[in-house]
Order: sequence, then C-alpha cells, then structure tokens
Amino acid sequence: MKHAGNMADGEALSPPRCWAEIDLGALRHNVEVAREACDGMALMAVVKAGAYGHGLEKVARVFAAEGVAFLGVANVGEARRIAVSGVTARIYLLGATWSEERAEIVARGWTPCISSMDEAAHFDALARAAGIALKVHLAVDTGMGRGGFVVDGIADVFAKLQRMKGLEVEGIGSHLPSADEDEEFTREQFRKFWKIIAEIGVDFRWRHLANSAGLLGYEQGLCNLARPGLMLYGVSPFVDARSQLRTVMCLKSRVTLIRNLPAGHGISYGRSYVTQRETRVATIGVGYGDGYPRHVSGHGAAVVIRGRRFPLLGRVTMDQMMIDVTDGAEVCDGDEVELFGSQICVSEVARWADTIAWHVYTGITPRVERIYLDR
Ligand SMILES: *Cc1c(COP(=O)(O)O)cnc(C)c1O
Repeated sequence: MKHAGNMADGEALSPPRCWAEIDLGALRHNVEVAREACDGMALMAVVKAGAYGHGLEKVARVFAAEGVAFLGVANVGEARRIAVSGVTARIYLLGATWSEERAEIVARGWTPCISSMDEAAHFDALARAAGIALKVHLAVDTGMGRGGFVVDGIADVFAKLQRMKGLEVEGIGSHLPSADEDEEFTREQFRKFWKIIAEIGVDFRWRHLANSAGLLGYEQGLCNLARPGLMLYGVSPFVDARSQLRTVMCLKSRVTLIRNLPAGHGISYGRSYVTQRETRVATIGVGYGDGYPRHVSGHGAAVVIRGRRFPLLGRVTMDQMMIDVTDGAEVCDGDEVELFGSQICVSEVARWADTIAWHVYTGITPRVERIYLDR
C-alpha cells in the first residue's frame, strides 16, 4: 500500500485510516462500455464535483487520453483546474453561467450552453471584443426546469443567436429529469428534442440529451453525443440492473479497536442501540467526517471485513463507527474494512441513507486520501 506524505525518508509514516482506492483501469473499462452503448455517438465525460469525488484532474486526464469529445463540468472553477493541470480536451459547462464568469470562459475558449438572451448577448459582446466567434450550444428545456429556453419559440431563439457574430451555435442540448424513473415521460422528451432539431433544420455539429440513464435505456435517434457521468464511475443508474460496468472507487478503513461489551451496554450517541447479549465490538476509523453517510444508522447498514458482512451498531459518529463482530472471531485490530466498492455497491449504502449514489460519492470529504491504482 502506497500512501502520500511529505516526510523525509526514514521517518515513521502511518497508513491512512480511511482512504478511497480509485481503479483507473476500471475507469477506462467503463469508457469502453459507454462507447458500446453509444453505438457511434461521441462522448462527453461528466467530471463535475471533482469527478464525482474520484479526483478531478486525475480522472479528467484519463478521459482525455481516451479521446472523449468533451469534459462536462459544473462551473468555471472546475474548468480552470482541468485547464491548469494541462489537460487539453474541450470543456463544456453543463449549466447556465453567471455574468462574472463569462469573460474567463471566452478567454479560455470553454464551451457554454446558452439559457437566456441576456447570456447570449453578453457572450456575443465579449467574443466580438476578443475578435473571435465563441462556440456555444443552445440549451433547451424539454422538462428539467433548471435551465435552457422553453420549447415554445425555440426556432426564433435560434435565429436570433445565429445573427450574433460573436457566437457560433455548434450544438443543441437538453436534459432528462427522470430517465431512471419515468420511461414514458423520457421517451416523450426524446421525441420532443428530435422534433426541435428537425424544425430548426440546421445540421448542428453536436446534438445531446442523454445522461447515463438516458444512454443505457433509450433510443438516441437524432442525437450524436451522450453525457454520461455515473456509469463511467461504474454504477448503473438503474438500481439492481446487471451491467458490465466495473466499480472505480472502493472506500476503505481499518479496525482500530476491538472490545467485548456486556449485554445492556449502549453504543454511540443517543444510545439508539443497546447490546442484547455480550457483544464483540469493533471500532473502525471512519465516520461522517469522511463523508460516510450518518443516515445509514438503523437501516440495515453493514461493512465488509475479511470478505464477510458485519452490521453497524448505533449511530455513525464523526470519525469512528462501531461494528458487531461477535460472529467474526477472525476479525482483529488493523483489519481492512470495506465501506463500499467491490463487495457492497455504493447504491446499497445510498439506499440505507435514503439518498442516491451521486450524493454518497460527492459527499466523500477531502480528509479521505485518494489512492490511484492503475492495473
Ligand atoms: C450531471 C449531469 C449529467 C450526468 O448525469 P449522470 O446521471 O451522472 O450520468 C449529464 N448532463 C447534465 C446536464 C448533468 O448535469
């Protein structure tokens, strides 16, 4: 196990208590799976929120080397970090921009999507002042309700944008709010989107609607670009779906202490759990301060030690949590613990916490050392 540190050679260096192993080989494998699903379409690899907690620069570099058409980010801070790291793939901003962000976007040649006439006019002015035509995508709101122009009058909007000499409208995009939940609504969105493209009648270089669920579950018709995020990290948005995806992140910790507690002994804050019998309790070095969700308590949460599942006892605390290893005589101090990854799917942890895999991933805090494996 290698770990980061800047101490001089020869000085004692402890291994981390909680770390995330990130398998870059699995990441590449998932790009291949996405490519097959794309069936000729191009890929925009979504790397917002620090590549879903996997590490922005490292992951962006892998996707760029795989030749994706775009990297999708949430904001200019992420775009800048990628650019500064030397990754040269095209960067697309997934949401509307705020006025103070636009000068940098134009200067760097990042690709925004346009959600309003004010945004378009501002980008147009900045680009003309810089003597360029900025490549932009027209964002259409076919049902997400978060950004883009509403469908009514979209052809007029496009015509106005086309007259702006500082803009080159090279793409059109929209987003799916319930591709993993509502097939009928999503099919209708695809039809609506294709109809808009046909009506505008222009040969857009890029036409994109699908996130992971949209890519895995639907016919793509006139689309030629997909924007998967979650599936690239190895998780299907369709819970319990079988897939060829490989999990990229494995969250791990260690047993730091083992004790025998008598029956009737409360465990953790609030004493929500009281031992029913004499119990062998392992304390492990991970908590919600690492981003492991506190809300899993009381919902069947478990961890894996030496290949077997053992249940969580009581509440998750900030830095530690307690596990019942009464049935695991083999478990000992220093043992590695898997919180999720290869033996527990992150979606299962999300279910215990009454949330979604995206939220668990992006909740993993900076305290957790990311260790990159390349095999
Ligand atoms: C986050 C995001 C995606 C990726 O979604 P996944 O469900 O993680 O595949 C795609 N498009 C937009 C606009 C997004 O905001």
